[in-house]
Amino acid sequence: MYRIICAMLVFLFILVSTDTLHAEENDDMYKKRMELYKKTEAITSIPWYYFAAIDQYERNIQKDVPSSQIISISFEPVKWFGPGNINNKSETAITIFNGIGRDGNGDQKADPKNPEDILYTMGQYLQSYGYSKEDIKIALWNYYQRDLSVQSIMDTARVFNKFNGIELTDRVFPLPSNYNYSYNNTWGNRRGFGGLRIHEGTDIFADYGTPVRSSTYGVVELMGWNLFGGWRIGLRDVHNIYHYYAHLSKYKDGIKVGQIIKPGDVIGYVGSTGYGPPGTSGKFPPHLHYGMYKDNGYSEWSFDPYPYLKKWERMDKSKK
Ligand SMILES: [Zn+2]
Repeated sequence: MYRIICAMLVFLFILVSTDTLHAEENDDMYKKRMELYKKTEAITSIPWYYFAAIDQYERNIQKDVPSSQIISISFEPVKWFGPGNINNKSETAITIFNGIGRDGNGDQKADPKNPEDILYTMGQYLQSYGYSKEDIKIALWNYYQRDLSVQSIMDTARVFNKFNGIELTDRVFPLPSNYNYSYNNTWGNRRGFGGLRIHEGTDIFADYGTPVRSSTYGVVELMGWNLFGGWRIGLRDVHNIYHYYAHLSKYKDGIKVGQIIKPGDVIGYVGSTGYGPPGTSGKFPPHLHYGMYKDNGYSEWSFDPYPYLKKWERMDKSKK
């Protein structure tokens, strides 16, 4: 019996300690990253939030990012060292071979695996276009050659700047907990209207006029009428996830495309709009359709929001 209790205690201890260790590691990681971004700002005069946003974008498009990875920006060896230069890390050699790798930490080597060198190199690249918002946008366009990537990075930079940080982990359930609502996991159900489609989201049933809140930090990307979604609004968060809210009765006054949003900000009200020309309403019971879409740098696809909704609902309850 004693042995069993001992084993259980050891097991509990491991559970508790690994859990707290994990949380500390995360906080520590945010701090380390922020220090690196600020340091690079000091030596390049490019604001820290651009480095933070590019780094975040890179992390989100990678698969299986190791938890120890501080900076996710990376350069192809041929770009870093220059064509024909076989891993010679001296800045002189790299410059001769037209590589872009630079030494950011002053150890006389431009190392493509060193976070300070990577960020400094990115800073030098951005600097070569100039310092204005437009200059940075052009630099990013030439780097990624994709509008959505540029927009996502520029918007994330604005959000980081506005909230003066990168640790934006707060989330809320889209409907306030003091209103009546109900939802089930309807992911992948068949839809009749408009031909055979599968249901890309979760329907949260609630009364007309129930406030709809943003679940995350982000920027309003799209508003207006959609044949299926009625009055809908789309927000992109700092993890480059697109959040889609549909069938609204109306938008919150003053909400507009490009606006920065934080969790809990009201963006509209539950309705039953859609399935017809602009203004069509009442063809189904009032509900919020909530969809989430992930972008991998090439294409976007929807994934099941239900587990996240459950989690955010629990987070809301634990706040009281
Ligand atoms: Zn739906």
